[in-house]
Amino acid sequence: MTTVTLNKQSKKAKVKGMMDNVMEQFNSAADYIELHPNIRKILSITNNEIVVHFPVKMDNGDVEIFTGYRVQHNNALGPYKGGLRYHPTVDIDAARALAMWMTWKTSLAGLPYGGGKGGIQLDPSKYSHGELERITRRFTFALADNIGPEHDIPAPDVNTNSQTMAWMADTYMSTRPPAERTANQHVVTGKPDGSGGLEGRDRATGYGVFLTIKFWCERNNEKLENKKFIVQGFGNVGYWASHFLEKEGAKLVAVQDASGSIRNSNGIKVEDLFNYTKINNGGVTGFPESFDLDNEKFFTSECDICIPAALGNQITKENASLIKAKLIAEGANGPTNVEGEKILLERGVTIIPDILCNSGGVVGSYFEWLQNRNGELWQLDEVIAKLDKKILESFNKVFEYSNRESMDLRTAAYCIAIKRIEKAYIQRGIFP
Ligand code: GLU
Repeated sequence: MTTVTLNKQSKKAKVKGMMDNVMEQFNSAADYIELHPNIRKILSITNNEIVVHFPVKMDNGDVEIFTGYRVQHNNALGPYKGGLRYHPTVDIDAARALAMWMTWKTSLAGLPYGGGKGGIQLDPSKYSHGELERITRRFTFALADNIGPEHDIPAPDVNTNSQTMAWMADTYMSTRPPAERTANQHVVTGKPDGSGGLEGRDRATGYGVFLTIKFWCERNNEKLENKKFIVQGFGNVGYWASHFLEKEGAKLVAVQDASGSIRNSNGIKVEDLFNYTKINNGGVTGFPESFDLDNEKFFTSECDICIPAALGNQITKENASLIKAKLIAEGANGPTNVEGEKILLERGVTIIPDILCNSGGVVGSYFEWLQNRNGELWQLDEVIAKLDKKILESFNKVFEYSNRESMDLRTAAYCIAIKRIEKAYIQRGIFP
């Protein structure tokens, strides 16, 4: 008989991670639609997991070794698609969960894509611009043929942006044979608009968040005007969602980011705050027309709409029963965990789930990819009109399914997304 000695790590009670969350969400929808057991097996695991360690020369001459991840969950509907984030929380569990969320998101949006995600475990604020460029280029080189314009197409995510994508595209294209270089521009999306990027891709995620809130209000005979909203994360998603909500007369009353939390019940002017963050290293604290709020009081502060637009696992059983908002719009991926969600649903709070709420970003990416593939240049008004149409279609599908089946919006969104993938597998069968 073999005796297995547990090390200290495995003796500890397992802390629930993002993967537990996405699997619980997946399994409850899969049970509901009676997903074919073989397809449940396939979708419960990731297709490929790429982990790379690579050296980069720092400004002071030292060499640092970085760990990068790319998890490819599923490609039944098309090439793997999803962002790359630069954050200390990036690890294999996070990359797996985020890749799965992308599979459901692209399927629900009706795109010809599968799901992937990845990134590098680092705190980008600790590195210079030049170091970040070398890290990005070396990571792209390390990923090599594991990414590709018809195979796996990265995009920006937390702490990455159009500059990161420009470096990636340039590195990837520079390492192709000369005749193939420019034809590979769509290896990444979210590029700057002077380098094959799509006009409006910068605002696409936040605009989509705004649209789903607007559609929800319309369906519930509520006005956006004078609605108070709070936003966690004032990056690309949080800022643009706030911008469009304010334009419709809603009022931003509290914001939280890595620097802390602020509040002004009479309203925080979105553009003023945005300009302030530019001179305050990106942070919102200290904004003159607001007072600082304890971080623990942010989610429980007075509002109608709450937009978590930062990281995962922010709304949990610790704060869900104290949240004042009647509507939660998930700008981030996985911000509400299963236990938090249960409490919110029992209290009658509506959650517009991440895979619907923040899908404007990947829809924008799809437009950019098409633009590059077809050698076209789209105008901003065209992009906005196409986004409106796509997000409305997805919203209506989810809203109607949830009403018909008397279920929450997340489970409805999952059911629709999983069924589309199931259909593809049933039509094709399993090789060989
Ligand atoms: N990172 C974004 C997301 O989580 C965009 C992904 C993409 O455009 O591929 O949806």
